[in-house]
Amino acid sequence: MKRILTGDRPTGYLHLGHYVGTLENRIKMQDEYEMFVLNADVQALTDNFDNPEKVRQNVINAAIGNLAVGVDPEKVTYFIQSMIPQIAELTVFFANLVTVARLERNPTVKSEIAEKGFDKTLPLGFFMYPVSQAADILIVKGEIVPVGEDQVPHVEQTREIARKFNSVYGEVFPEPEAVVGKIARLVGTDGNAKMSKSIGNTIYLRDDEETIKKQVMSMYTDPNRVHPTDPGNVEGNPVFIYHDAFNPNTDEVNDLKERYQKGTVGDVEVKEKLVQAINTFLEPIRERHRYYEEHAEEVYEMIEAGNKKALDVAKDTMNRVREAMKIDYPFGL
Ligand code: ATP
Ligand code: MG
Repeated sequence: MKRILTGDRPTGYLHLGHYVGTLENRIKMQDEYEMFVLNADVQALTDNFDNPEKVRQNVINAAIGNLAVGVDPEKVTYFIQSMIPQIAELTVFFANLVTVARLERNPTVKSEIAEKGFDKTLPLGFFMYPVSQAADILIVKGEIVPVGEDQVPHVEQTREIARKFNSVYGEVFPEPEAVVGKIARLVGTDGNAKMSKSIGNTIYLRDDEETIKKQVMSMYTDPNRVHPTDPGNVEGNPVFIYHDAFNPNTDEVNDLKERYQKGTVGDVEVKEKLVQAINTFLEPIRERHRYYEEHAEEVYEMIEAGNKKALDVAKDTMNRVREAMKIDYPFGL
């Protein structure tokens, strides 16, 4: 069985972008692969080091989000990054194999630095998180990495690190491949290129009907369409992107698109139908979310079992790494 590594940063509740970008693939792939799902608290601390309470709270929220959509603890190894110290160890060794110039060229890091307004305040830990992410993936020798589009540069960088390590020290690591979801990058409700918990343009998997309604009714549509009788554009229109993703009634979606292009349907009807579709989609997920919020012990069980399994795998990998790097000394502690 091929190994998968994927994960989330515990910085908020999981949302529809996570679903189409990666969660859906986790559910689809958990039967056929040996899957590891990482709760990346160490990475979350790189830009939230001064807000540990936020990260702590969201560790459990991210775990619940996975359970709510159907990630199965019987099939998947779910673990917490900070509880596997071998990842930090491997990060240190990988840091030797990456140049500062290469990190500066990583397009996702570049845009996140700009978005977060880091200039002279850029933490070294944040700047080099792709290196730590390479260690997340390679500590379990992950071969496939289901992610959203923004993570593809990090997987590419992981491949380079694996290749470099193998060529310098001998063959230890696979060169992992990214697998992107049905929608590589779901737009935000505000029309921003990415739905993101850091921006707040989200529909969370646990949102109630009222919240969904509020978010959808205020969504961006075709900015050039002023009256419902104006012919509108469906290409790249967030409302129709969401319809395509979450409304299984394709006849209804096609009818709305046709009428929108002709100028015979108003935004309100399009949005009301979208509220219904998203609500139907989220209903069972929301219910399971609530269940696990009330049964934290089941969430802890999944994490404890996953941590143990991940720790064994990580120790194995580090033995191989130490041997390859010639730091497997004949003396002990
Ligand atoms: P943060 O702002 O803290 O980085 P985030 O919303 O980007 O939060 P992550 O935990 O970083 O969420 O991402 C988890 C996974 O979900 C990654 O594989 C990422 O690519 C994917 N993902 C996140 N947002 C989207 C989106 N809008 N569309 C598609 N995939 C997404
Ligand atoms: Mg992110």
